[in-house]
Amino acid sequence: MYETLLQLAPQGLYCPPGDFFVDPWQPVPRAVVTHAHSDHARPGMRAYLTVREGEATLRARVGPDASIQTLAYGEPLRVNGVELSLYPAGHILGAAQVRVAYRGEVWVVSGDYKTEADPTCVPFEPVRCHTFVTEATFGLPIYRWRPQAEVFAGIHRWWRANQEAGRASLLFAYALGKAQRILAGLDPSIGPIFCHGAVERFNGVYRAAGVALPPAAYTGAAGREVDWSRALIIAPPAAQASAWTRRFGEVSTAFVSGWMRIRGARRRRAVDRGFVLSDHADWPGLLAAIAATGAERVWVTHGYSAVLARWLAEQGLDARAIATRFEGEQGAAMGEEG
Ligand SMILES: [Zn+2]
Repeated sequence: MYETLLQLAPQGLYCPPGDFFVDPWQPVPRAVVTHAHSDHARPGMRAYLTVREGEATLRARVGPDASIQTLAYGEPLRVNGVELSLYPAGHILGAAQVRVAYRGEVWVVSGDYKTEADPTCVPFEPVRCHTFVTEATFGLPIYRWRPQAEVFAGIHRWWRANQEAGRASLLFAYALGKAQRILAGLDPSIGPIFCHGAVERFNGVYRAAGVALPPAAYTGAAGREVDWSRALIIAPPAAQASAWTRRFGEVSTAFVSGWMRIRGARRRRAVDRGFVLSDHADWPGLLAAIAATGAERVWVTHGYSAVLARWLAEQGLDARAIATRFEGEQGAAMGEEG
């Protein structure tokens, strides 16, 4: 048994026998990247390895000249005698869990993940391992997601009500992942859909990858004849306070995030409506995913890591919280892209 297949180094999660890092936050020679959100995919690495479906989003994040090697899901690669492979994390397009195997010992770093279905990415796949590194963004029992059909029905009702009241529907969501998932679930027969440039940029990447999205126009290309009171507009949270929103006339605003589950989050965001939809696992999702790995040891990062680690330890697992620089949806809650 090789006990320290991964360890927490100043630059990030390090695999000593393989001599590579997983989602490092400081420049390193070799970075294996779980997905292209900015807290996991940082520029400045000498070489990147990611799953094939994630190459375009990673390149958009780390630059056109970055050295990026890709693997198919499940395809093994030997790195200094360590077997490395990537499995679907169900988080956003091209998100992967990193499986590391060496001398009979198997570790899996999940990155960000969700167990709910999502038409815009490959479903989460449990991977058996001895040690599982899990996120805990929504690692409290109060976080239980409602069925998605219910959430989308609510968004559609809000959109129709705004049309009747003669105001535009302005929906704030993460530009990468969440925005495309919302777009995929919208009913385009209700009215025209528009996207902010930051969202439109990633829509193009998703469409190129073969993900079916309804038609959506770039707001910047819209003519003067557009009746915004019929439209639903998807924009990143950062656009909320900007002059960009003025062109739409009277608007109703909404924010789509797992954080909308908490009382007061909508008021703090200063939006009219909150819809609870997350690209992270809820509490039952986290517990089911962890159980499915069969892991005896669990490292818990970002979010409610101490709470989840304590709960797992009470169930007899060797669990502990570790201090990474991943933020989960915390960045979105603060109005940043991530
Ligand atoms: Zn993420």
